[in-house]
Parts: sequence; structure tokens; C-alpha cells
Amino acid sequence: MNKNVPKPEVELAAAAFTRAGRLVQSATTLIFFTFLILLGGAPANSAFAAAAKVIGARVAGDDERTRFVLDLDTQIKPAISGLAQPYRLIIDLPEVEFQLADDAGQSGRGMVTTWRYGLFAPGKSRIVMDLNGPVSVDKTFFLPAVDDQPARLVVDLVKSSPEEFDTFVLNTRKASKTTASKPVPKTDRLSGDARKGDKPLIVLDPGHGGIDNGATGVGGTLEKAIVLAFANLLKEKLEESDLYDVRLTREDDTFVSLSRRVEIGHELEADLFISIHADSVRRGRKYARGATVYTLSDKASDQLSEELAEVENMSDIIAGVELDEEPTDVTDILLDLAKRETRSFSNYFAKTLVTELKSAVRLINNPHRSAGFRVLKAHDVPSVLVELGYLSNEHDEKLLITEEWRERMANAMSDAIHGFFRPRLARQKGTVSQ
Ligand SMILES: [Zn+2]
Repeated sequence: MNKNVPKPEVELAAAAFTRAGRLVQSATTLIFFTFLILLGGAPANSAFAAAAKVIGARVAGDDERTRFVLDLDTQIKPAISGLAQPYRLIIDLPEVEFQLADDAGQSGRGMVTTWRYGLFAPGKSRIVMDLNGPVSVDKTFFLPAVDDQPARLVVDLVKSSPEEFDTFVLNTRKASKTTASKPVPKTDRLSGDARKGDKPLIVLDPGHGGIDNGATGVGGTLEKAIVLAFANLLKEKLEESDLYDVRLTREDDTFVSLSRRVEIGHELEADLFISIHADSVRRGRKYARGATVYTLSDKASDQLSEELAEVENMSDIIAGVELDEEPTDVTDILLDLAKRETRSFSNYFAKTLVTELKSAVRLINNPHRSAGFRVLKAHDVPSVLVELGYLSNEHDEKLLITEEWRERMANAMSDAIHGFFRPRLARQKGTVSQ
């Protein structure tokens, strides 16, 4: 077993790395965390109390051999699998609490270029590594805690060929499928008690979550956290009116696949689906700022929208979801089948929303745009995607974390929703009083 103990210098460097990471945790993150708790949208799951803790992680090695090490407070059993196009290694774990530096995973070593971690589904955590080529897993082993050394899970990778990797993918994905690797979101429970009464049903869809962080702002704000907090605020406002039944596609920091989000809207027979984001835009567009409303189209309205949809549609790849596991009804065919009526309702709501937002917050120029967002592909649910702003812009980032701005934005969105449903609610009222 001794030959498997990682070199001391690697351990030392990693320890220093973790300490530095703790020190640089930004004030923004702390303030934001407090805000989340105040809103009742704490990202932590109460089940975490008993969860194992990952207290350190590091990669060492070169382009021939690479070692990935996790420091743990207890022994856990990983399930390792691969995915190609692009090459990824996936480590599935029981639900764990990650206590890692803010920048953990942003740069890799050897054959691991970057890696990420997070909750994949209730009870299940995941680490996804991006690889620079095909690898095979040479060995995986667990080292119990000794003296001041924590327990460690070690995964050794060696360079391999595309053919070998394909076989590895085939074998491991088959195995992981039989051990119920498919995410079972908590939101599954929603479908059981679909509709109660005649209230319009609104599905709010906070983007990203769990292992998919979405964008990260210049000041360290995470898109997945900001959009969840905002969705909770909007839900509260809508529920105050007692006019609607409001559901969220995720209620905590869990990953939900794009197709599952679409399915939730469909299963609940939602009357409106609003996906909420605060993305980053790339390629010299850092000055792009202001709220934007997107609807579905097969041809993007402009370059920025096209790039944004591309990034958004990557969510499942980021989380290591096997695309052929996706239900077949969420394919491009739906784009053609999308009923004209659904599309015109989506466009009508987008226009109503832009009108309301205009008087409340700063908008991008041409604020109603369109592109092929997979999350908007329900053929029977009017759907829009709202970018609250862009985290790539420091001014937007500052706004998005102020309570005053969020209040204005949520009020304007509620007003737009009231406007959209007013004719229907008036009709219902008429029927009741007759
Ligand atoms: Zn996003």
C-alpha cells in the first residue's frame, strides 16, 4: 500500500492551497449567503448534517499519469464512469458536503484540464473532470486517516486510446445506469399533485444548480445562487396576490437537466414557464448589460443570443448527463411541432414583460431577443427566458445583489404576469359571479 501514498510535497502544496483559498473567500459570497438564508432559500440541505465532508482535493502528475486525490472525513464509495465528446471522467458519490476553496477545480494538472463538483440529485454528489484526451483508470483506492492526515480517496489515471476510452464509457455507463444514476429531482414529487383549482399555474425555473454553477461574476457572485434567490422572491410576490399556483423547477442547490425542466412545465400543465438566468457573455462583449427577455426561435435574432443559447444548452454536458438518456420527446423535432399558438403566447408575454421592465430597470438595447434555447422547447407551455442582467458586467453584478434592485425587478415581473393573465382571470371572475 505504501507505494500508493502521494508524495509529501504534493500534500504540502495542497494544504497551502486550501488555506489560501479559505482566506480569499470574498465578502460578496458571505453577504450573499446571508441573503439566501434570509430569503429562506439556503442552498444547504438539512440532510447535510450527517453527510460526509470533502475537505480537500488536488490533481498531480503529467500527460502520461495523473492522480486525483480527495481528502475526506470518512470513507465513501465512488462510482467512476466516463463520457466522450468531450472527454470527461465522472465520479459519483453519495451526498457529501464540499468544503473546498472557491477556485477549486478551475485549473487542473496533467490530463485533467478543469473539474467541478456539486449536488447532482438529492442524495447524490458528483465530480466531473474535463480531460485533454482519452484516459483509463489505473487504480482507485482509499487510504484511511493516519495521525494528522485525513482519509483520502485516490484515483490514478493513465493515458489511453480513443478505442479504450469508448469501451470504458460503454462498460461504466451501463453499470452506473443500473445503479440508478439517473437524477431523480425532488421536483418529481410535484407531478403527483398537478393542479388544484383553476388558478393559472406558473413554473419559475432558476437556471443551473448543483454541479452546474452557471456564470461567475467578476466579484465572485454565482449565477445559480442569484437566480434561485430571485425565483424565491418572485414566487413570494406572486403568492401574495393569491391568484396563482407557483412552482419552482428546483428549490435548492441541486442540478436539474434541461429536459427535466421542460418536462416539469409539461407535466404540471403550466400556463407560463419563466426560466431565470444571469449569464456571462464572452468575446469582447463585457459591456453588454441590462435585463433581456428571450423566446424560442430556430434562427437566433443576433450573434449574442446565439452564443448565449449555445452556452445555456451546455448545462447537461457540464453536469455529465448522458444525452442519449434524455427522453426522446425533447429533440429538435419539437421545435417544428411547437404549436403556433404556444409561440404566439410566449411572444405576447415577452412583449408585456419588456413593457413593464422598461419603466423599472435598465434593459439591453433590443430587449426582446430569440434563439434556440433547449429549456424553452415545451410545445404546449408558453415559455420565456429572462436574463436579469449579465454577471460578466461588473455594474450588472453590483445591481443584481442589491435588495432594492431585486425588489423593483420582481415587482415589474409580477405586474407583467398580472397583465398577461388579466383577461383569463376576469373571465373566471365573470363565471363565478353569474
Ligand atoms: Zn444561465
